[in-house]
Amino acid sequence: EKQELRIPGPTPVPPSVLRAMSRPMINHRGPEFKAILARVTERLQRLVGTEQYVAILTGSGTAGMEAACANLVSPGDRVLVLEGGVFGHRWVEIATAFGAQVEVMEYPWHTGVDPQQLGERLRETPGVRAIFTTHNESSTGVLNDLQAIARVRDQVAPDALVVVDSVSGLGGAPLSMDAWGLDAVVSASQKCIMAPPGLAFVALSRRAWQRAETSRASRYYLDLAAHRRMFEKGQTPWTPAVSVVYAVDEALDLMAREAPEERFARHRLMRDMVRAGLEADGWELMVEDRFASPTVTAVRPPAGVDVEAVRRVALQELGVVFSGGQGRLAGQILRVGHMGFATPLDMINAVAAAEMALARTGAPVSAPGKGVAAAQAVWLERQ
Ligand code: PMP
Repeated sequence: EKQELRIPGPTPVPPSVLRAMSRPMINHRGPEFKAILARVTERLQRLVGTEQYVAILTGSGTAGMEAACANLVSPGDRVLVLEGGVFGHRWVEIATAFGAQVEVMEYPWHTGVDPQQLGERLRETPGVRAIFTTHNESSTGVLNDLQAIARVRDQVAPDALVVVDSVSGLGGAPLSMDAWGLDAVVSASQKCIMAPPGLAFVALSRRAWQRAETSRASRYYLDLAAHRRMFEKGQTPWTPAVSVVYAVDEALDLMAREAPEERFARHRLMRDMVRAGLEADGWELMVEDRFASPTVTAVRPPAGVDVEAVRRVALQELGVVFSGGQGRLAGQILRVGHMGFATPLDMINAVAAAEMALARTGAPVSAPGKGVAAAQAVWLERQ
């Protein structure tokens, strides 16, 4: 049955990427895999904007987050987590599990990190060894300004590493690890990279590698130094998800055919179409324009509307899969993914589906097609 996946990951996978996964199995310690691993790693370096090695781990994005923590944070280290949603909170849980002394700076769920507040917090909290942040907070649809965060770190706490979860940002929003002074970037295969879930990517800066050498946290499967050592021989330390590596290889090849600036502009256009369309139909945007994510949009329903009923109708009658809210937003919001293998026309579908499902649940949609028209107008203006 035909289904349209409009959730913030996993995202639709292009046919050639799916086909790549059906290739025969090979020796993961043989020359063929070595060539693929080198090619994929090099392309990931370009995507992340780093000259440093990017580790490819078998595991989901959370494995990459855990790897960053396990390799960089020793028990008792003071760390600061910037928390503005479910994935910010995940850093709190992981750092706590690794015995860090965890300080949390919460910021409102409708906006990004305020650099001034961060500066004040760092001044009040001396000795922070690492700042954990979320590039694109998938639970709210906020895109953080990583450059601003790194600049505050430079001024106030230059020894603190900036550790970034870009699981739902990398590929859809600009990111330039070395130029921006980021110390760790974590991502995964199943979001803007248009491949199935199964691989996490972790890049460390030069000084993060130095920190990793002296870190006293326990690690084995996620030991990044082991990955780096084996990479020099063209291998991963443990058997990798070879089929997902094939998929990522093909997906990165497809991505390379679109200039990065065009890719980012396409994501921004999709964002603006979805925001204009849903707003015209009476949905309330969760996030102010300047922090609005180019990869996921969250909206509150018009008064009196049961958002879970809208999701059910969209799925059962229209075959469109939307996400609901997570954590304290469960049952309260609709989230629409617009990243990776997606086009502006897909956004017309998504807005139409949300509009039709809304009307079906008895909500007063002022005029059918109003949201679609608003989304089309954004597209027309942008040409
Ligand atoms: N961080 C962000 C921002 C995410 O969107 C996700 C996935 N929804 C994760 C981390 C966790 O990734 P995974 O589910 O692959 O472990």
